[in-house]
Amino acid sequence: MTDALSTAYALLHSVFGFNEFRPGQEEIVRAVLAGENVLTVMPTGSGKSLCYQLPALVRPGLTLVVSPLIALMRDQVRALAAAGVAAGSLNSSNEPGETARVMDLLRKRELRLLYVAPERLARPDTVEMLAEANVTLMAIDEAHCVSQWGHDFRPEYLTLGNVARQIGGRLQTLALTATADAPTRGDIVEKLFPSVPPRVFVRSFDRPNLRLAFQTKERSSRQVLAFVRAHEGESGIVYCASRRKVEELSATLAEAGVRALPYHAGLDKRVRDANQDSFQQDDGVVMTATVAFGMGIDKPDVRFVCHADLPSNVEAYYQEIGRAGRDGLPADTLTLYGLGDMQLRRLQIEQSDSSDERKRIERQRLGALLALAEAPRCRRQTLLAYFGEQSEPCGNCDLCVEGVERFDGTIDAQKAMSAILRTGERFGVECRARRPRSSGSHSRRRPWPPSCRPRGRGWRWRNSCRCWQRLRGTAAIVGDADTALLDALKALRTKLARTQNVPAYVVFSDRTLAELASHRPANPGAMREIHGIGDAKLERYGAAFLEVIRTNA
Ligand code: ADP
Ligand code: ZN
Repeated sequence: MTDALSTAYALLHSVFGFNEFRPGQEEIVRAVLAGENVLTVMPTGSGKSLCYQLPALVRPGLTLVVSPLIALMRDQVRALAAAGVAAGSLNSSNEPGETARVMDLLRKRELRLLYVAPERLARPDTVEMLAEANVTLMAIDEAHCVSQWGHDFRPEYLTLGNVARQIGGRLQTLALTATADAPTRGDIVEKLFPSVPPRVFVRSFDRPNLRLAFQTKERSSRQVLAFVRAHEGESGIVYCASRRKVEELSATLAEAGVRALPYHAGLDKRVRDANQDSFQQDDGVVMTATVAFGMGIDKPDVRFVCHADLPSNVEAYYQEIGRAGRDGLPADTLTLYGLGDMQLRRLQIEQSDSSDERKRIERQRLGALLALAEAPRCRRQTLLAYFGEQSEPCGNCDLCVEGVERFDGTIDAQKAMSAILRTGERFGVECRARRPRSSGSHSRRRPWPPSCRPRGRGWRWRNSCRCWQRLRGTAAIVGDADTALLDALKALRTKLARTQNVPAYVVFSDRTLAELASHRPANPGAMREIHGIGDAKLERYGAAFLEVIRTNA
């Protein structure tokens, strides 16, 4: 192992509190430490940030992080500060005091990471200042924003290649994105790496910790409520197709005692920001939202995403469910769809003012989503096949767990064909397959273990249910015996987060609390071995958490 890599391992443990790299991270960190230019395409939640944060600490000099998402920048800076790392950001929402602090650290060359919005980098004074700041690496997050093909195009990204040259000659560049098909990748290489082409790393799009499920709409608000109730006390997002539905559904959920808040572009900005802060900061808030709520949510412990209406296409579906389970722990997703959804989405495509070519592509992408909704086999296989990946049945989707009802449709199909011909092909055909109700309820074919109790009408999964935990494929969730301790640890985390005005996960992640509750460390040395606890956090929070563990023993 090179010296730099062994330092990286040591810092992984002492600063971030992680025992090992996530798949894909180590090879990228190695390449960055070796001075190579790198483009990495990894799904959301796979841990891209560590790929620049760690090298930033191993080597001297300043790492510049370009990100268009101001809320995300702020959260990363806070999380780094909590781990004892000197990081700062420059963007339009900075308080004057914060900017002065950052400038001071920059002058003293004490800052390790500086997050900058692309608009800010386009300013000549910023570039001038950075040319003097010993920048050794430029990490460009959301690198697909440089491509005019995608819908996230940001013109300022086109200047970044030039900016890098002005700051540091052949400044080492690491570009990161979660969404890049071949043409977008080509664009990124051409625009962001004009002189030295990067080494490209593409990770699988599989997110095995996400459970996938679809249901046909029957009584949709009840279906949503049942799903949300099966996740009591957990943070989640419910996506709706319209603002009106957001309002209605969040009211329904709130009436049923769920901490649900609405979010859509029609709300007053102050209300929207307050709701987003509350979702980000507190435990167990359910955000009922249109897709306006999305980019920039950097909350690793979102435990479920429910689509109350069919998303617009497979990419949107994948991105939206991808906001759950970024911490790698099991997370649950459910998508409801009905005939009305399909008609609405088709109409939206036909009535848009896109070119014919674009409409054709949109129709294809919608078709792929319908194929996923009506898939006859493992959903993950179908989803990954869309992204060009082959895989085995996952065992963690509704179809793998509950199977599909199949029937011989030959005669029905013949009748339908003949009806189509006899009516002169004048009518549209919509088909709808029936399948047993899945996510949220036990399969009728399976025996119910005693840990699952009836709730309302019918049997429902409970989070504490062993078979549910097994299904979600974890060892990470604590057993029943530890829930009292876990609640006490959560209460302390909430208190600390409130007094410091940071999101709960900045104090400790869910996984850290779960491990504390199951391993019950009795002293700082043992606590240091727990996931997510590095030196800085041990010093800051160790005593308080050890006290809770001791008194709840
Ligand atoms: P991405 O940018 O790819 O969406 P993030 O960088 O935000 O993902 O990381 C997602 C979550 O994974 C964060 O909570 C982060 O702390 C955690 N994480 C990253 N690397 C590791 C690791 N090696 N071990 C454990 N957790 C990790
Ligand atoms: Zn499956």
